[in-house]
Amino acid sequence: MSYKLHFFLVCFILLIMTSCREASDKKSLSYEISHKKNSNDALLQVDMNFEASEDGTTTLIYQDKAWGQDSLFNSIRDIRLLSEGKLRIERDSNKIVVEHDPSMERLKISYTLEQDYKGPTTSRKVYRPIIQPEYFQVFGQNLLILPESATNNEAFDLSITWSVPEKDYSLQSSFGNHQRNQIISDVTQDELYSSVFVGGDFRIHDMDLQGNQVALAIRDSWEAFDDSTMVELLKNTLMAQRKFWNDHSQPYFSVTMIPIFEPNGSSWQGTGLTNSFALAASNNEYLEVQGLVYLLNHELQHNWIGLTIKNDNEEEQYWFSEGFTDYYTMKNIAINRIYDLDEKFFIQEFNSKLKNLYKSPVVASPNSEINYDNFWKDRHYSDLPYLRGAVFAFILDQQIQRDSNGGKSLDDVMKQLHENSDTKLSHPYFVKTVNPYLKEDFEPFFNRHIVDGEPFEMETIFKDLGLDYQVSDSIPQLNDTPLNISKLGFTSPAP
Ligand SMILES: [Zn+2]
Repeated sequence: MSYKLHFFLVCFILLIMTSCREASDKKSLSYEISHKKNSNDALLQVDMNFEASEDGTTTLIYQDKAWGQDSLFNSIRDIRLLSEGKLRIERDSNKIVVEHDPSMERLKISYTLEQDYKGPTTSRKVYRPIIQPEYFQVFGQNLLILPESATNNEAFDLSITWSVPEKDYSLQSSFGNHQRNQIISDVTQDELYSSVFVGGDFRIHDMDLQGNQVALAIRDSWEAFDDSTMVELLKNTLMAQRKFWNDHSQPYFSVTMIPIFEPNGSSWQGTGLTNSFALAASNNEYLEVQGLVYLLNHELQHNWIGLTIKNDNEEEQYWFSEGFTDYYTMKNIAINRIYDLDEKFFIQEFNSKLKNLYKSPVVASPNSEINYDNFWKDRHYSDLPYLRGAVFAFILDQQIQRDSNGGKSLDDVMKQLHENSDTKLSHPYFVKTVNPYLKEDFEPFFNRHIVDGEPFEMETIFKDLGLDYQVSDSIPQLNDTPLNISKLGFTSPAP
């Protein structure tokens, strides 16, 4: 090769490299976040650097309303444009619009995020930014203003530089832990919105599960349990579930746990998120660890039911994503003897669901009434899909086992839905998937009880399935007998 040609090739390669780098720099999206505090309050200072639109108008998005919370803009203060141009806030349409010279390639803004309520964090406030001098917990959708171009649900990359102390300051999020320079690649808007970021005085427990990382970030000292109980519980639960789904594909999983204020009772809540779940519980002597076991199992089950197998239309399939999650929570705890609980625990929990369902004033409401407004505002409607769905899953599991002489169960349907999880869970698709497992067409039963909401005739159903029951408080309840335990068909997995 002549020197000239060689030189040309080198130049050409350099040219490609330079232009590629420019292209990716030009498109890149970056944030620098610091946690500022004084003795009374604290804030997150965010500097955002992003691509400008060629037409001179660049639109950014911040959700004012999410997960039943209104006025989330209240926690965002002091939005400033650090580049030449003009910025206006269109809160009603969730927009921040920047007008600038069309020749500009990049823009910078800064904003601060503050907790927008005084006093302790109660369960009602968990879904708002929590920013205290000692720590913060903020969900992705509340932390990051996004360019409108990132909200079309195509994957994009972003980087976050955390300007926080190197020592005695922990960081964990749905996308990793300990990193001060965090690169989040190939993420969609939905995944980013359903994520959590925590920092501050958390204790981080990193675990290894068959080569995959599981991390618990927990803060405060708890009256009802110590960290090792939570670590054990988390390990056992995740191992059992990953075995059930035969899915060890998640290289990293984050669990965050914060205390909430509840002086007189036991309360907890959790949210299944991208690669993670966020847990909040009352820190007092009344906290029942068994309830936490349940919550943890429910939330982690959402990795598959809800997040992998997705609802076609959110609240419309909550009977599935919440109800079936509850059913598999009870079932997996009992089968795997998590926290030493067994079939007796299953029967107890199932009976309490029956009671709550049949005492509900909305027991006969059609599925269409389980909509965004009712679900987030009315406790009876929020409970309904969990209860109705769990009872429905039990009936279906029993029917499939009966029709297949114990050869098949609802587990097979679930695994099939998981294998075909590119298809979202719609009503016709669910009926079509279940039908081959049953002797009779299942659609009329589904329409009557799930779509129209007619209460299940539990006595008839228990009789048909050959289960022992008694009626107490005019609600049929399963008896805790060896016959019923064997009829559940719960066979323990091989150790
Ligand atoms: Zn749930």
